Amino acid sequence: MAGLTFKHVYKVYPNGTKAVNDFNMTIEDKEFIVFVGPSGCGKSTTLRMVAGLEDISAGELTIGDLVVNDVEPKDRDIAMVFQNYALYPHMTVYDNIAFGLRLRKVPRDEKHRNGKMTRDEIHAKVTEAAEILGITEYLGKKPKEMSGGQRQRVSLGRAIVREPKVMLLDEPLSNLDAKLRTQMRAEISKLHKKLDTTFIYVTHDQVEAMTMGTRIVVMKNGYVQQIDTPKNLYNYPGNKFVAGFIGTPQMNFFTGVLKKQGENVIIRIDGSAAGITVPYSRMYKVKPSYLDGKTKVCIGLRAEDISIAGAAPSDGEARIKVKVSHKEELGNQTLIYGDINMDGDGYTENGTRVIIQADETEIGSGDVIDAVLNIDKIHLFDIDTEVSILPRLPEYNYFDCTVRAGKVILDGIKFDLPPAIGCGDGEYELLIPTDAVRVGGNIVAEVVETESVNGKCLASLVAGKTRLFAVTDDVIPCGKTGVSFDLKRIALVKDGNTVVAAMPEKISMDGFMSKKKIKAEITDESTGKTKTVNRIEFYLNICGAEFAAPDDISAKLISAMGVKKAFGGKLRFECTPYDLTFAESGIPATVKDIADYGAEKFAVCDIAGSEAYVYCDGGVSGNVYLQPDLAALSVIQADLDIRII
Ligand code: ADP
Repeated sequence: MAGLTFKHVYKVYPNGTKAVNDFNMTIEDKEFIVFVGPSGCGKSTTLRMVAGLEDISAGELTIGDLVVNDVEPKDRDIAMVFQNYALYPHMTVYDNIAFGLRLRKVPRDEKHRNGKMTRDEIHAKVTEAAEILGITEYLGKKPKEMSGGQRQRVSLGRAIVREPKVMLLDEPLSNLDAKLRTQMRAEISKLHKKLDTTFIYVTHDQVEAMTMGTRIVVMKNGYVQQIDTPKNLYNYPGNKFVAGFIGTPQMNFFTGVLKKQGENVIIRIDGSAAGITVPYSRMYKVKPSYLDGKTKVCIGLRAEDISIAGAAPSDGEARIKVKVSHKEELGNQTLIYGDINMDGDGYTENGTRVIIQADETEIGSGDVIDAVLNIDKIHLFDIDTEVSILPRLPEYNYFDCTVRAGKVILDGIKFDLPPAIGCGDGEYELLIPTDAVRVGGNIVAEVVETESVNGKCLASLVAGKTRLFAVTDDVIPCGKTGVSFDLKRIALVKDGNTVVAAMPEKISMDGFMSKKKIKAEITDESTGKTKTVNRIEFYLNICGAEFAAPDDISAKLISAMGVKKAFGGKLRFECTPYDLTFAESGIPATVKDIADYGAEKFAVCDIAGSEAYVYCDGGVSGNVYLQPDLAALSVIQADLDIRII
């Protein structure tokens, strides 16, 4: 039994295909994790890296406490079940299951003189596995005498007897018919509970993923899209791809605009005459620039969140006209297909087509009906990036504010801008990151509600008449509190132009790794003789300065890039403003200014033509040298954009 961690794991195939990009995840012991996504998204490659069947190009994979990048598959304590069963056709079911155990080495002792399991031990394990899987009566048969489902049970049996720390299953049910698939799904879930071990399961079938996984990893084009529980993926998809991939029938997507009018927001959907009014309180998390009535957004609603309207409209009901094109009777429910555009055909997925989930209904083709949208269940996405603009964890608080004499004035909140933020008097839009709101400080606020979201605490606060969100690692209790803002992270915007930007928190420097042959003298202690040997030393060249490369960094770079490319290949070194210190030697830089944020000061430096903010106590100026904290550096292979460290 073991958990796994993926740290910046990449897979680049020799032909240059980047199959997996920057995969990061912690899998807890005993979880049932499903990797799901369309064909070619990189899910099998990820699983095969866990199994050790594919090398890891960059990053670190840990099973239990052990980094397994260079551990042989047989030593990883995993078992894998494949789609095609991979059984030996000439062996009986019994022998197929027992095969691995007969080869397995065990510590030699009285009972195991040849370092192998005894016949009785193997027999006990095989019969127990057969019993768990209900294939006892087939133990004497050959695989060809069995059905697909039975064969897959045998390959599960073969995996179970190994008592692996992690069970890996690669589309194990794809070869089975629909009914058997459903049955085997339940059996595998049951098996997971019984074995109480970590399962990682790969499938392209979202229903399989939703019914089996404790958490699901949705992938697309080699990138993780979202990692969450089935319920959260369904209710809170982080982008349009996940929203469309999870759930049947597919979520309805419309194009439209949102306009803030007083305390309401009016939603207008392209192709429909209807204007839908929702209270602004439902849209607090949406960036105001989306609420200008002009910026196109993608509006998502699931079929079950649209219903056929009753005769009399009720208060606040969001009604929309739909021209029905056709129906799909599913027995217990009916899917009504139509178009909100009276000229639409109801068949093409064009931003106006709509699917409504209804009970038995008399409604027929050509009818024009009133449908009601359940606005509480609305999903909104950016039209280009497709990222949710109504996320569970909002990134920013957006306010209209006034700046007067270096003071920011909000409804009921006032605070001084630090010297680093020069900003003329006037009206601005103020952006405060939700994780830049800190508990403790002299702004009086009240925490009115908290919610736990993916391990973070989302707190809703009221300060004066201003509502704001804070996202923190620790739970904030409800009630009165003082708050403050990390002012180096705020931004002020006027007429769409950023007047004050957040302080850049990432420093990026170009460089490469080099090696030098050093002649060293070694003295043999027993003979007292001295001889000269060649030693190779590795160096990191960062913006023209040379640093001895720590062993773990040079080893990782060589392992990820290969010996040829590791030396001289373009690297990018990244760190934070806190990871560089002023020194007598090192990376040459010029201090252009000191940015004083009150509690902290930063030197605004020119490093090889790029601007970087470096933490300081204020007493620096002119030409300086910087020493990086090598242990804190991220190292990126620049041409492939792969984070190696
Ligand atoms: P999935 O399991 O999601 O269908 P894979 O992990 O099999 O996807 O593949 C991810 C990507 O890597 C695809 O573009 C595929 O063509 C490519 N790929 C897979 N195996 C190899 C290989 N051995 N050599 C080169 N490219 C590969």
